[in-house]
Amino acid sequence: MKKNSMIERKNSGLLIVISGPSGVGKGTISEKLIEKFNSWKSVSMTTRNPREGENDGEDYYFVSVDEFENRINDDKFIEYAKYNDNYYGTPKDKLIEHMEAGIDSILEIEVQGAKNIKDMFNDAILIYIAPPSFDALRERLLNRGTESEEEIDKRMNIAKKEIEYLDIYDYVVVNDDLELATREVIEIINSEKLRTSRVLKVNI
Ligand code: 5GP
Repeated sequence: MKKNSMIERKNSGLLIVISGPSGVGKGTISEKLIEKFNSWKSVSMTTRNPREGENDGEDYYFVSVDEFENRINDDKFIEYAKYNDNYYGTPKDKLIEHMEAGIDSILEIEVQGAKNIKDMFNDAILIYIAPPSFDALRERLLNRGTESEEEIDKRMNIAKKEIEYLDIYDYVVVNDDLELATREVIEIINSEKLRTSRVLKVNI
């Protein structure tokens, strides 16, 4: 007969929040986490216009302000925030569904949303991906070419304000080298999975 292992872990998935300024590479890092941990990434809803190449239902659910506000009133978001004059929110039902199924869930959201999630889920893991410097970030955004210079300046200003709230995060990873940064985030998740608080039972 196969013996039970001494340590039984809770079947609950991790709730991983990834924040960082536009262009810092958090999307690429999340993709690697999805591959590595078979995790699920929440698709947010937003009132901003789609960028070229973005698809509705994949990158975001793109909706009107009216529709978004109706959903706020119907309590359809686990959290939402305004960023650069647009609404962004995490649909509640899908997230709860995945968490209950024990699947690691990733939210790629900004600072106010991250704080709200931590207030609701104390064991959420908050990771901030920082650029090596603001000049490097500006350069990356210019090279990406998806925003006007004016839009980039606005986002740079938001990024500078956001970094003042760094202490709400559990971890900071500097993305100077994408491979290294990804490895560091994977190490964080691996360690988090071993936390004593995630042990359900010790069989003696
Ligand atoms: P972008 O316009 O560059 O796609 O996103 C702008 C900011 O909004 C990013 O920091 C992104 O992580 C954040 N964001 C995306 N979805 C959500 C969401 O559902 N909730 C919150 N609070 N922020 C979000």
